[in-house]
Amino acid sequence: MQATLGPGATRRLLKRLRDMMAAAGTAQQRLDRIVKIIAADLIAEVCSVYVMRAGQVLELFATEGLNPDAVHKTRLRVGEGLVGEIAQTARTLALADAQSHPNFAYRPETGEEIYHSLMGVPILRAGRSLGVLVLQNRTYREYTDEEAEALQTVAMVLAELVAGGELIGTAEMLRVDDAGAGTSDRIEGLRLNEGIAIGTAVLHQPRVSVRQMVADDPQAEARRLREAMSGMRVDIDRIFQTSGLSEGDERWEILETYRMFAEDRGWLQRISEAIETGLTAEAAVQKVQEDNRARMVQIPDPYLRERIADFDDLANRLLRHLTGDRTAADAADLPDDTVLVARSLGPAELLEYDRRKLKGVVLEEGSPTAHVAIIAHALDLPMVGRLSDLVARVEAGDTIVVDGGFGQAILRPSDDVRETFAAAIRQREALRQGYAAIRKLPAVTKDGTPISLNMNAGLVIDIDNLAESGADGVGLYRTEIPFMIRTSMPDVVEQTDLYRRILDRAQGRPVVFRTLDIGGDKLLPYMENTPQENPAMGLRAVRLTLERPAILREQVRGLLRAAAGRRLDLMFPMVADVAEFDAAKELVQIEIARERKRGRNLPDPIHIGTMMEVPSLYWQLPQLLKRVDFLSIGSNDLLQFFFACDRGNPEMAGRYDALSPPVLSFFRAIAAECDAANVPLSLCGDMGGRPLEAMALIGVGFRRLSMPFPAIGAVKAMVRSLDLPPLAKYLEELCRLADHSVRKKLQDFARDHNIPV
Ligand code: PEP
Ligand code: MG
Repeated sequence: MQATLGPGATRRLLKRLRDMMAAAGTAQQRLDRIVKIIAADLIAEVCSVYVMRAGQVLELFATEGLNPDAVHKTRLRVGEGLVGEIAQTARTLALADAQSHPNFAYRPETGEEIYHSLMGVPILRAGRSLGVLVLQNRTYREYTDEEAEALQTVAMVLAELVAGGELIGTAEMLRVDDAGAGTSDRIEGLRLNEGIAIGTAVLHQPRVSVRQMVADDPQAEARRLREAMSGMRVDIDRIFQTSGLSEGDERWEILETYRMFAEDRGWLQRISEAIETGLTAEAAVQKVQEDNRARMVQIPDPYLRERIADFDDLANRLLRHLTGDRTAADAADLPDDTVLVARSLGPAELLEYDRRKLKGVVLEEGSPTAHVAIIAHALDLPMVGRLSDLVARVEAGDTIVVDGGFGQAILRPSDDVRETFAAAIRQREALRQGYAAIRKLPAVTKDGTPISLNMNAGLVIDIDNLAESGADGVGLYRTEIPFMIRTSMPDVVEQTDLYRRILDRAQGRPVVFRTLDIGGDKLLPYMENTPQENPAMGLRAVRLTLERPAILREQVRGLLRAAAGRRLDLMFPMVADVAEFDAAKELVQIEIARERKRGRNLPDPIHIGTMMEVPSLYWQLPQLLKRVDFLSIGSNDLLQFFFACDRGNPEMAGRYDALSPPVLSFFRAIAAECDAANVPLSLCGDMGGRPLEAMALIGVGFRRLSMPFPAIGAVKAMVRSLDLPPLAKYLEELCRLADHSVRKKLQDFARDHNIPV
């Protein structure tokens, strides 16, 4: 049988299934017949279908070969037994000796003890397991890859029957334990972009429904696929044209990457092969996408995993060309206050919506480094991700609050809740206007102390906010961000071009370039990423670039060339001892000498500093301060190492407070040493962008802060209301306390002194 199981055999099987599915009778009767056909065709003594019921339970719905009395009786929880494992992992299992597998769960009522081998595939739809299709044999049979493929294709056709709502009602397929429509529902997720929005839910392209699964003429289907592919390419070209983007903008680069995915040969090849087995073009696209998803969610590399959304985007686009379905983005009647709801969203999909009508985005998936989050940031669009079961919980037309500040979404808010958020939006708008009014005024305290406020950036387009934000310059340019959105390592010429564009756009305002902080959670898709137990404390940042000096040298070369004839500020991330700083600086000196020898114009002046993100540097300040031109505290990392408290772990959020005696004493001591050594000190972690924290930092001696650009207005308003001497004195006192946090005391101080925080 193995020899005959080519595309032709699968095609014949699919045809019989199609006829069976269209035949008269109830869904259960059809399913009963279907398992018989599959068992006979794939030469298995047993073929069973388990269907997922509410509460994550898999129920045996039909079987050929097992005891018929077990049907509708045998139940397994997701994760339980081999069937449960297949549903949980959404992966195929093929075992010659299933009973010796540690997860084998024996169910006596089925009479399955005589069957030794087992192959099961998930019945998937939209990436979710709707059930499991299982073959079993008495012998210790080694199932082949071709057989697994054939079974997956069959499962895909079966998914239509299961999802059709006849076997179990569609209402049950949604989670029964959810709050039903009409009741308010708050879901906690992950902040992907700041901001608050209230609006009307628009479901991002309610799934393209594939009606025809099985085809008679593979050649005609291949032709349809080719036509759809070219239609899709025209689409992508149109997005480029209408986006108003130009080369050099990251959004352009993201689209370029996306276009490359569309040309991915492996992807097209797999779709063509699925057509060969007898599926229609659209069913083939869907099948390959289901396979892709199942494979990609297992990938440990977060960068690659996040590309699922790009492929979903492409697959949906292709499906729409094949089925003629429209997208929600095309709809003329898109509400003016659209909150886009999607399971996942690709960058091109987001760009297709009319920005003027879009107020916010909520996603079931998504991560801060996903392309779509980068686009949302550039569009200043509130976005929250990782909202569990979102799509099943929302109805089109529902009111939704997107709270990008706290990373939550509120579905169908009550009038009170809605009004609270509406007031917050109004207040933010009023503040924004107030900040605009002080944009051109200096950030000087009431007693005349100037405070330099700078912005953090990572994209070229961020720099466009520089003038509008009223910032003095860019205090932290995270150079790894442009590396992360590419598919290959930029060479020196490309880097030079990128850095030059940044400096040009900054129009003479200083930009502090931080050399690559890769490794940790920021992985480059084109570099080998060995899994590390504690990536934040592993081979990352300067450690990695010292180990692979060519990377740092090329980057420095690009920076030196881009800044030729003008000022260059650069610093190294995650330096833990003076020797590391010396080694990194030495590489910069080598590059300077190299450029000089070649008669190239050099930047002037060149300032070389370091970030302070590792507490050990504090005890080396006397040596370090003699060597650096400036020091910049990366409080995000520094505090996680200071308290041994993972910055990315939501359960640890709020466990320790930056506004606490140990932190403030630490910062105060650093500021005093820098001051004595006359070395400029800055802080560029997120805390500098919160007015109360910024007030405390200024109180312990900081005169320069760098923060996300939307925070600058609020911090400047705070600075301009500040009288420094009493604050400094008060902080001296607070540093001596044993409190867990002095936040409340600082809030009271601000209120008593009319300082807006
Ligand atoms: C920091 O650690 O505070 C910092 C600015 O670096 P990043 O957030 O990029 O790690
Ligand atoms: Mg850091």
